[in-house]
Amino acid sequence: MNLGIPEQEILKRVENFASSKVRDRASEIDESSSFPTDLIDEMGRIGVFSTYIPKEYGGLGFSLSALMESIRIISRECASTSLIPDVTVSLFGEPILKYGSEPLKKKYLSRIARGTIGALAITEPGAGSDAAGIKTTAIRKGDGYIINGGKTFITNGGEAKFFLASAVTSPEKKHHGITLFALDKEMSGLSVGNEFKKMGIRGTSTTEVLMDDVEVGEEQMVGELNEGFKIEMDTLNVGRIGIASQAIGISEGAIRDVINYGNDFKINRKEGAMFKLADMINMLHSSVSKYNESIGLVEAGRDTTLLSSLSKLQAGDSAVKITSDAVEILGHRAMSQEYPTERRYREAKITQIYEGTNEIQRLIIAREILKIGGPKF
Ligand SMILES: Cc1cc2nc3c(=O)[nH]c(=O)nc-3n(C[C@H](O)[C@H](O)[C@H](O)COP(=O)(O)OP(=O)(O)OC[C@H]3O[C@@H](n4cnc5c(N)ncnc54)[C@H](O)[C@@H]3O)c2cc1C
Repeated sequence: MNLGIPEQEILKRVENFASSKVRDRASEIDESSSFPTDLIDEMGRIGVFSTYIPKEYGGLGFSLSALMESIRIISRECASTSLIPDVTVSLFGEPILKYGSEPLKKKYLSRIARGTIGALAITEPGAGSDAAGIKTTAIRKGDGYIINGGKTFITNGGEAKFFLASAVTSPEKKHHGITLFALDKEMSGLSVGNEFKKMGIRGTSTTEVLMDDVEVGEEQMVGELNEGFKIEMDTLNVGRIGIASQAIGISEGAIRDVINYGNDFKINRKEGAMFKLADMINMLHSSVSKYNESIGLVEAGRDTTLLSSLSKLQAGDSAVKITSDAVEILGHRAMSQEYPTERRYREAKITQIYEGTNEIQRLIIAREILKIGGPKF
């Protein structure tokens, strides 16, 4: 990962913010399931939201590495706080940047760069892994569309000012008949429904997003008509690297707990703990290698489908194992909420589920390998 001096400066700022502000707040955010508004405002000020947004749209114009490393650093302290900018920039901002019209880029990207929150709304009660099975429709009316349907489990749902929502525009074309629309919270007919209580990342709001005769102009379409599914898959290729960065940060936090508290309790020199620690480092190293490689491919403009799935699978499964082992090493202490380790264990689980479950990542990996006739590493 080649980071320029200004990028390194930003990451120092993020590190300082994470250790001085986020670390102390993480357990209270988790216990109260409260959205960390003050931390979001500060991330807007120090540049977490703006790193990856090009200068012409009000951002800093830094590389994807700078954004991903910011997410990783914040995840070491609190996976809720890191997820909010991650989703905003990589799931809402990135597709607008790559596929949106010039007026849409002007309308949304500068606001995101300042810390306004966005969301990607694909999942529906009957369509999670099968993102092409959505029932939300966008019916042509005059110069625009009327959207009806309901999304569920949408990260940032409660606070987002903008949503990128998928809708069926040509039902007979199946996944080739889906289109993405950028929606503003204040649009008539758009509302936020039920908020879900969760086992982890409790400081993020995860809600239903309901659309009842939402009228949008054609200019709110992101990409071409019926191009939505392809854009979603492309967006998730970058999004999955964000989840890998989150999983790596959570793992690093758990390893830090083992080293610090394990030393305090004099359990780190026991052979069982040392074997587990060595396995944790081995898993973390594999996760970081794949994560770095996938970012390199994106930055070189190359296809990252295989590496993004490998990164998410490796980092997510490792995070669950690493945090579980950390709890075991620290024993009864880690079952207590006095220490952050049990929270990290609960935070790690989601990285195997969202942005495509790890079973779906395995399917993608196998398909990609069969397509090219075997591994070419
Ligand atoms: C906290 C949280 C935040 C989320 N945020 C967002 C968001 O911001 N935007 C959004 O659009 N969605 C979001 N989601 C939804 C998330 O992307 C889905 O939960 C995920 O894609 C899996 O879909 P599902 O939960 O419906 O599971 P299902 O698709 O019902 O899968 C259930 C099980 O079956 C397995 N499975 C399903 N199909 C196959 C298959 N073909 N082959 C093998 N195994 C299969 C799955 O791996 C899983 O184990 C969020 C979910 C959670 C929990």
